[in-house]
Amino acid sequence: MKRCERCHVLVSGNPRSCPLCQGDLIGDGEPGRESFPPLAAKPHPQKGLLQLIGLVTAAAAAVCIAVNLSLPDGGWWSIFVVAGILSFWLTFWAVVKKRGNIPKAILWQVALISALALVWNWWTAGRLNWSVDFVIPLLLIGAMIAMAVIAKCMRLRIQDYILYLLLDALFGLIPLILLLCDCLRIVYPSAACVAVSIISLAALCLYEGQALKNEILRRLHL
Ligand SMILES: [Zn+2]
Repeated sequence: MKRCERCHVLVSGNPRSCPLCQGDLIGDGEPGRESFPPLAAKPHPQKGLLQLIGLVTAAAAAVCIAVNLSLPDGGWWSIFVVAGILSFWLTFWAVVKKRGNIPKAILWQVALISALALVWNWWTAGRLNWSVDFVIPLLLIGAMIAMAVIAKCMRLRIQDYILYLLLDALFGLIPLILLLCDCLRIVYPSAACVAVSIISLAALCLYEGQALKNEILRRLHL
C-alpha cells in the first residue's frame, strides 16, 4: 500500500497522488487493484417514465400515419402530428443538454421554429395558413407537455415554476388571440392548445400553488 506522509493515510491500488491532498505518495503500490471500489451504475429513477412516453409518442405517430394513409382525403395532417412529437423530443433533449436555464431554452426553441414556419409558409403560399393553423399550436402543445415532463423528472427551483406558469399562460394566449381574431381556417389544434394551457396552469396551481404563492408574495415584498 502507498502512504501519504501529510494526511497519514494508507491508499490501496496504485494511484499517482494522494486522493485527499493530491500530494506525493511513498511506498509500493498494488498494480492491478483499483483505489476505489467500483461504482454500480444506478438506473435512472425516471427511466421507466421516459420509456413509456417514448413508446406512447411513437405509437401515436404510427397510428396517425396509418389513419392518414388509409384516409388521404383530409390532407396530410399526420406530418404536423409527427412534427409536434419531434418538437416535444427536441425540446426535451435541448433541456437535458443545457440544464442551466430550462424555460429560456424552451422559449428560444419555440420562437425560432415558429419564425421559420411563418417565413416558410409566407414564402411558399403567399399567406399564413398551415403555420398558424397547425405548426404553432402543435409546437406550443409539445413545449407545454415537455415542460410538464421536465417538471416531473427534475428537481426544479421555484423560480423555474414561476417561469413555467408565465410560459403556459403565454402559450395558451397566443392561439386564443388567433382564434378570437378569426385568423384561423382550422380551429381544433389551437383549441387543443388553449385546453392544454389551461390544464397545465391548473396542474401547476394545484401541485405547486402554495410554494408559488409564497415566492410571488416574497418577490413583491408583500
Ligand atoms: Zn495526502
